[in-house]
Amino acid sequence: MNAVELIERKRDGGTLTGDEIEWLIRSFTTKAVPDYQMASMLMAVFHNDLDPSELAAWTDAMLNSGSRLSLGDLGLPKVDKHSTGGVGDKVSIPLAPMVAACGVAIPMMSGRGLGHTGGTLDKLESIPGFTTQLDPDRFHAVLAQTGLVLAGQSETMVPADREMYALRDATGTVPSIPLISSSIMSKKLAEDLDGLVLDVKVGSGAFMKSRADAQALAETMVGIGNRAGTETVALLTAMDQPLGRAVGNTNEIRESIAVLRNEGPDDLTEITMALGAEMLMLAGVSGTAANARARLAEAVATGQALELFAAVIAAQDGDPNVIDDPSLLPDAPYTFELASDRTGVVTKCDALAVGVAAMRLGAGRAHKEASIDASVGIDVLRKVSEEVQAGDPLALIHYREDGRLGDAMRYLKGAWEVGEAAEAPPLIIDRITG
Ligand code: URA
Repeated sequence: MNAVELIERKRDGGTLTGDEIEWLIRSFTTKAVPDYQMASMLMAVFHNDLDPSELAAWTDAMLNSGSRLSLGDLGLPKVDKHSTGGVGDKVSIPLAPMVAACGVAIPMMSGRGLGHTGGTLDKLESIPGFTTQLDPDRFHAVLAQTGLVLAGQSETMVPADREMYALRDATGTVPSIPLISSSIMSKKLAEDLDGLVLDVKVGSGAFMKSRADAQALAETMVGIGNRAGTETVALLTAMDQPLGRAVGNTNEIRESIAVLRNEGPDDLTEITMALGAEMLMLAGVSGTAANARARLAEAVATGQALELFAAVIAAQDGDPNVIDDPSLLPDAPYTFELASDRTGVVTKCDALAVGVAAMRLGAGRAHKEASIDASVGIDVLRKVSEEVQAGDPLALIHYREDGRLGDAMRYLKGAWEVGEAAEAPPLIIDRITG
């Protein structure tokens, strides 16, 4: 086959066969097709999309570029959840033990934070000793022992995506629905799942700013999952303001523990319950959302979910005492209160501005190689529809360096708007199934 001929056909709006796509991605992975030709192909896909059979072939070729998990021996239904990322989105951390406590295996592979969005791995690593880098045998052993595992993507799984994502990043071809969908879904399909729940965020702090784009992404990913035989459901959820109250790393672990004690903020608890209910239904553990919610609530009320979280922390070398003694988590040396300059009702609490401010404090990464400071972050004290008096705090900022605080404040000052009245916005915008 000839890469130039395939590029030209895609450039001119034509269609590639499954064999051609398989050859292209295999040759790219072995470097027989150089980066400059693949970059050109990615731009052609960016402009002309992939039709459903091209998309299925593209995802399969990515999936077949590396190893896959094999979890049949567990004897349990296996379900995972993936979020497209947001600000204060720590849902995976309470969700995984809650669902695992109901008899579902959760082989959760998560990512690191980049830009204004945080990453589950970074948050977990703020627990002293906790490791997210597990080799395949250890990954399997933790899952078999506790029913869940919270780890990074294995180096050997979907290597084509690592290479292709770096190339997309450098060539302006990241925001393409077929390329995003095949990238995410190839990694999830490699987990040997029975079911997958997608949390597709929409709003200022999300990858997808508009409902139409989020819906198109969700429908495309649900289509890929179901076509590949992994039952997939997506919820479209709001990301115009941060989720929960904590944005950072250690403060997000504290808030996750609060959810597992049934003391978490309402919005975070509700999203966790809604996604957990979908997971239990996909696993065949519950036939209805009401039954699933009751089981999740029981796992929290009996302390089983919290016990499982302690077990997985210990199994991954972390200190489970953080659950009862949060002072074991690293704390920033200083705090600063951002006060409201007027009395009224919060009409806006911008997720993007809060996320960028948290990154500037050191809680997130401006670029992939940057290190993070687990102790710094922002506690959001007022959210949309909540009343505030002039002089009352809107946020509590945990910081280490004055310069970084000043930098973060440039974003935080405009993040809140206070007016006459506002309703709490809906949390769950849509549900998309095959
Ligand atoms: N996350 C991924 O894993 N891939 C993309 O292309 C975009 C976000």
